[in-house]
Amino acid sequence: MSDKSHPHPPPPTASDAIQTLLYNQIAQTGPLPISQFIEIVLGHPDYGYYRRQNPIGAAGDFTTAAEISGLFGEMCGVYLAHMYEIAGQPDNAQIVELGPGRGSLMADMRHIWVHTMPAMTNLPIQLVETSPQLRMLQKQRIKAAAIAWHDDVHSLPDTALFGVANEFFDALPIDQAIWRQTAWRHRLVTVTHGALGFVDGTALSPSELARWQMTNDHQDLTEGSIAEYCPAAEPIMRQMAGRIARHGGACLIIDYGKNDNLTDSLQAVAAHKPVDLFYQPGNADISHWVDFAALRRAAIDAGARFVGPVTQADFLMAIGLRERAENAARWCDADGRQALFAAVDRLVGAHHMGTAFKVGLIVPAGDGVPVGFSREDIL
Ligand code: SAH
Repeated sequence: MSDKSHPHPPPPTASDAIQTLLYNQIAQTGPLPISQFIEIVLGHPDYGYYRRQNPIGAAGDFTTAAEISGLFGEMCGVYLAHMYEIAGQPDNAQIVELGPGRGSLMADMRHIWVHTMPAMTNLPIQLVETSPQLRMLQKQRIKAAAIAWHDDVHSLPDTALFGVANEFFDALPIDQAIWRQTAWRHRLVTVTHGALGFVDGTALSPSELARWQMTNDHQDLTEGSIAEYCPAAEPIMRQMAGRIARHGGACLIIDYGKNDNLTDSLQAVAAHKPVDLFYQPGNADISHWVDFAALRRAAIDAGARFVGPVTQADFLMAIGLRERAENAARWCDADGRQALFAAVDRLVGAHHMGTAFKVGLIVPAGDGVPVGFSREDIL
């Protein structure tokens, strides 16, 4: 979804290697769940998309809000500083980012904290990141003494947590089901006539239907409708929300998404353009639209509260993006001002990121309306 040029296309051999791997695996074990296909294509230790290059930014395949303008990270930083303050500034808290990319968001948040909430710059930073290349970029960019990297959320300390996850959940592998007359069936990846493609699998079991929040009682579904489920999202949310429920804190979750899973949102992007999912596997980013309703259920199950989602435009405007941009513009020349407001437009314009992107918040159980949200955003 993100504006996703390949001035230096990776050598075709990596994608060839992934294809061979996929073909062999399918020949041995049969058609693959889509999540396993994505896991291999994005996460394979040697050839996976996220493991061997920097995909993010103008020279990569996609651009994120954090890379568009420093204002985005600054606003997130101001927000978390506010939440830290109202939590009583606990000194044993941790700062967490899920999927920090090039580290720009964390660097921009810390930049703001130096001026507004210096205590936060002394808190340990926990980064959940699987890519060794991106870990290196994060280390260079963030320049903080106390950074620890984690392969997944389970090893995060069990303390109060102030965190952010921007365009993280969309990168996790999903499965799809396809409606065939009377039942939802797994949609799998196979090889037909020497090419990767989809095939129908078995019907979803009752427990799978329950997990996916679906039934086979639909009367009104069009043949071939697609539903999605992200198996990794729920345990990650439970871990994050559990820490916040027990010890306090707040975590912003920002991504393109909606409040349900009846959709075919799987997308592949290379050099900022959509490509076929099976086009050169490993050379394109694969993502999906996040199901915020599923994130909410998991947070609540873990004893926390989930606020929103609201659109990125509503959230950023409510917490003062325009005022901050106008203030910053006073220090710029005409070109700088133009660039600044163009960036604001990309962040909040409906034709850019403003409405497709949503913001949700994990906070401890309770009531009240957190800044940036309104009464209607609280279910
Ligand atoms: N938040 C950044 C980058 C988003 S791209 C920004 O806004 O610019 C997605 C990030 O998630 C990358 O850093 C990628 O390496 C990381 N990532 C993807 N899958 C992951 C997983 N399963 N566990 C941990 N990190 C993951």
